[in-house]
Amino acid sequence: MPTLFIGHGSPMNALETNAYTEAWKAMGETLPRPRAVLVISAHWFIGSTVVTAMPDPRTIHDFYGFPQALFDVQYPAPGDPHLAEEVAELAKPDWVGGDKDQWGIDHGTWSVLTHMYPNADVPVVQLSLNSLKPLDYHVKLAARLADLRNQGVLILASGNVVHNLRLLDWNRPDGAFDWAQRFDEAAEELLTNNPGDVLKLVEHPDYPRAVPSPDHFLPLLYTAGLAAGNGPLKAFVKGTTFGSISMTSYSSGPVV
Ligand code: ZN
Repeated sequence: MPTLFIGHGSPMNALETNAYTEAWKAMGETLPRPRAVLVISAHWFIGSTVVTAMPDPRTIHDFYGFPQALFDVQYPAPGDPHLAEEVAELAKPDWVGGDKDQWGIDHGTWSVLTHMYPNADVPVVQLSLNSLKPLDYHVKLAARLADLRNQGVLILASGNVVHNLRLLDWNRPDGAFDWAQRFDEAAEELLTNNPGDVLKLVEHPDYPRAVPSPDHFLPLLYTAGLAAGNGPLKAFVKGTTFGSISMTSYSSGPVV
């Protein structure tokens, strides 16, 4: 099973149809049907490493200032407590807790899965991003989860390579600032050749503007960490919205 990194952008993508959502939908239709999806979402950035372990995760609307229609979205996919246990086992010696009642399915996950699996009939488990750990922790943890791909689990990381909300330019819905484009291109160059070197991006001169906080960048470290032995990443849709949000998405491994 391939691994995906999805540049998810605005929550409104859940309701819209555009080049990005069409690419996500096509990916859902092309991939072999997974047994379950393990999602690493930018929007579950907390002080511990936890997997959702409830049988029926709730839909979380973790944003404000958007139309009511977005708050009305429900994504009633089942959970998969057994997969949560497998994740905790594979992650050892790192500790991964099981969350039975705190989180659920956040918009980093459902804004994408409403397009990939609109019937919400593939079980979904989320893995949190541990904000207290150094960057290489995430790359190494990802590598230990690689065997799940052989068991029919789609590992989907959802963030944005460039994500600077403070510098959004509402006059450029489909444009990019020079620095955003430079960083996005540098990331593609590296990820499509040497994904194991993903942490070199931290030294890029545009990193501070492209990644002002780690939450949307960290999911990329999981896809890169999983690429070892599975082939370099391939960008399957590219672009930038509002100057400072890269929508570039990657796959790793054979996409039939
Ligand atoms: Zn986001």
